[in-house]
Amino acid sequence: MVEHGVEHARGPAAPGRRVALVTGAGRGIGRAVALRLAQEGIEVALTGRERPELEAVAAEVAAAGGRCAVVTMDVTSEASIRAGVEAAAEALAPPLVLVNNAGVASASKLTDLSREEWERVFAVNVTGAFLAVRTCLPAMLAAGWGRIVSIGSTASMQAYPYTAHYTASKHALLGLTRSIALEYAAKGITANCVCPGYVDTDLTRETIERIVEKTGRSAEEARRTLEAGSPQRRLMTPEEVAGAVAWLCRDEAFGVNGQAIVVNGG
Ligand code: NDP
Repeated sequence: MVEHGVEHARGPAAPGRRVALVTGAGRGIGRAVALRLAQEGIEVALTGRERPELEAVAAEVAAAGGRCAVVTMDVTSEASIRAGVEAAAEALAPPLVLVNNAGVASASKLTDLSREEWERVFAVNVTGAFLAVRTCLPAMLAAGWGRIVSIGSTASMQAYPYTAHYTASKHALLGLTRSIALEYAAKGITANCVCPGYVDTDLTRETIERIVEKTGRSAEEARRTLEAGSPQRRLMTPEEVAGAVAWLCRDEAFGVNGQAIVVNGG
């Protein structure tokens, strides 16, 4: 038998009991990630600001035979993150898988973009991820095993108009991920981004509403414009994004580190 943490040929083996902390787990991609990780036998701390949404997801996890805990946590508050990670550790075990999914977006011409909006988006999309990683890392280091997956975007690598703040935040999230990957590569920990194109969630429905409002196009036309961004001419599903996240959390993905896995149909 290989002792945990010392088999170097294929990397350290995951501990028998794995706990994941998913931020923004109450809906959209975060919900799908939580359900998928639970299917893989990972216990999940469902975190977010809205307890009723999280409880609805917890009921789905439980109905599918998974184990989870509901933890209210706002990623813009360091104290809330610290308390959330502690609560997850108490209810389940210290999280060795962290999924930085919580994110916000908006659209604005650069000349109309307020400093407040710039900082709001960075606080959730970048600083929140940094603080969550910093809080969860000690347990991963102690275990000699960890998986950090952050939900970037195709905006982590390319620009979109009227989203300088969102695009800059998702580029920063990828930069943060690459730094973590390099710094902890020899410690049994990987850090990667999953970078979706437009996904069929509330966030994209808001984008469609904004296009309708600003251009006078119909919702159907606006949706087709977003679908045309993918060579497959469709929106991605939250479950496809969750599948990529789940794979990155497996032992077999240990060699994949500091990468941006694009889920965009081409
Ligand atoms: P949703 O708007 O459906 O969900 C966003 C989640 O983030 C919610 O659960 C929300 O929870 C949570 N959240 C927001 N602010 C905070 C906060 N301060 N503290 C804790 N949680 C917070 O979005 P998606 O599921 O579509 O997006 C998930 C991630 O995927 C985001 O990072 C987004 O940028 C990224 N992404 C999405 C794409 C898309 O097309 N939908 C494309 C590419 C990337 P709460 O109930 O607390 O508001």
